[in-house]
Amino acid sequence: MIPKPDPTHHRFTNYSSNNRGVSSHAGHAGKDIPYRRSGTDEELVDALDQLDGRNYSSYKSLIGDWNYLDFELGIDRVQADPFAPPSALHAVTTPKKMGLPLDLIATPDQRVAVADFLVRAFRRSIERYAPGGAVRIARTGPEILERSACTVTQDRVELRFQVQLPARNRSILGHTAATIFDKDVPDAIVDTFEVVSPDAEESYLEALRAHVHAYEDHKALQAALEENGWVAFVADGAVLARSSGVSQKPLEGAVPFESPDSLRREVTLPHRGVVRGLAVEPGVTVIVGGGYHGKSTLLGAIQRGVYAHVPGDGRELVAALPEAVKVRAADGRAVTGVDVSPFITHLPDGSDATAFSSENASGSTSQAAAIVEAVELQTPLLLIDEDTSATNLLIRDARMRMLVEADKEPITPLVDRIASLAHGKGVSTIIVMGGSGDLLDVADRVLMLDTYRCFDVTERARRVVAEQPREILELPWPLDQAPRRPLRDAGQVEGHKTKASGLDKLFLGDQTVDLSDVEQIVEPGQTETIAWALRGLLDYVGDGRSNLPQLLDQLEEILDRDGLDALTRYGLRQYPAFLVRPRRIDIGAALNRYRGLYLA
Ligand code: ADP
Ligand code: MG
Repeated sequence: MIPKPDPTHHRFTNYSSNNRGVSSHAGHAGKDIPYRRSGTDEELVDALDQLDGRNYSSYKSLIGDWNYLDFELGIDRVQADPFAPPSALHAVTTPKKMGLPLDLIATPDQRVAVADFLVRAFRRSIERYAPGGAVRIARTGPEILERSACTVTQDRVELRFQVQLPARNRSILGHTAATIFDKDVPDAIVDTFEVVSPDAEESYLEALRAHVHAYEDHKALQAALEENGWVAFVADGAVLARSSGVSQKPLEGAVPFESPDSLRREVTLPHRGVVRGLAVEPGVTVIVGGGYHGKSTLLGAIQRGVYAHVPGDGRELVAALPEAVKVRAADGRAVTGVDVSPFITHLPDGSDATAFSSENASGSTSQAAAIVEAVELQTPLLLIDEDTSATNLLIRDARMRMLVEADKEPITPLVDRIASLAHGKGVSTIIVMGGSGDLLDVADRVLMLDTYRCFDVTERARRVVAEQPREILELPWPLDQAPRRPLRDAGQVEGHKTKASGLDKLFLGDQTVDLSDVEQIVEPGQTETIAWALRGLLDYVGDGRSNLPQLLDQLEEILDRDGLDALTRYGLRQYPAFLVRPRRIDIGAALNRYRGLYLA
């Protein structure tokens, strides 16, 4: 018997406890949820044959649970017509039936990694057994992430997918559908669920183990950062470069990373054992070097190091603190009530820099807002690249300070506050800056990349600073900035569609939110999840009392406890197959870019 999930219907708030990752199908969300049939696989196939030629809507009669012996197939939502989004299904079995070793599903981390592995395995099985394109599953990138496409608990494994139910015009192609459900779908599912059965190839089980171990080692590496008080780690031998600007595949023949002796540290991981590499300590780290020598590649690997990577990626042992944030300029973005006064004062139009709002921020104001917002969300580490920055926000050299008097220039550049941000506020920075030496005074360490090799040039930089001194202005970081308190806007969002498109865009009510500058969103499924999360926050939660970090913490608790389905359980049941867990801080970044944000 496959255990049934908790049938209780929940709202976003007032949520009762449920096992993490268990999704709920047996529940009902009111009158819109049709009666569920049940039967055997043969009965389903017979029923499909009999539906041949009938009106497309008759497919709805198949909603229910179908027992295939090796697994149970749920038909959860049937598309209204052949052109609508495909129908939603799930397959469920037990770890025991699969022969999943219990020591691979003992912890929540292990279960996330096993589920991620099974999503990838299912995709390969579909390509092999159901290549026609009728069966669909989410695409995955190289990051190991929590996904609604598969959930694993100690007594239940569930895969979710979509099927395009076949039609000729608007009538059912019953015999074609019967083949899909007699062969394609069950073959692909059995192949996936057998990946780790006792009689499956040993190499599958080894691959699964390696996947889980990669995830656990990355988590352990992130824990080692916290323990040792580091902000990032890049292991010797890591392959950081990607094969192209539009690919996340490792570059063949890339020069493996090697840490400078002076900064090399050692950690012991549960599976890899002793690992050596560059440990970045807190404070201000400046990455310098000639153009095309690998500076942005190093920073890019660190920014992705907030996530674990699949074995073979090259970046498995690159880690940054989980809430490290890449900030960049994004002219044109919306900003709502952000205190940008550490960077910008007396704006030319006389508006208030302590509550700066704009429908169309400039390069410098957008990056100033992004930094303050990240600090508000309690990031421990900012990642900044000159390539994607507003130069005038980062630095202003001596000549320019002379030419444009301070009271005419509204911008206090980051260079004047970066030290107090690190040492006063506790927010470290790793910044790529090849074009100016002005940061050398305030750097705690300077890394130089030379033909992809990394050197510690901190001492050399000190000598340069001594030989060519400049007047340094070290301004404090204001410690009394209060976090903003968002207001719910039911009516604005409620009843409107929530949708995501690719990585970069989501739609909320009648608003489009552009996320193209939120670089650490790495899969479209995260964007889709963020769309749901924003809707939840804005519909129900934002009461004007909790501030932004508190709201996100509450949401995080719900997601940790109840899984991704918590977001879609209110309203009509959705059976989402494509949700991927985003970071708390990226949900916050999206809210910050929403043009309908109101503050208490
Ligand atoms: P920079 O930011 O210093 O100008 P990039 O990081 O953009 O340089 O790297 C320039 C080029 O070198 C890119 O095409 C990148 O893929 C490649 N590259 C970076 N690191 C390595 C490496 N370790 N081995 C081989 N190629 C690399
Ligand atoms: Mg660069």
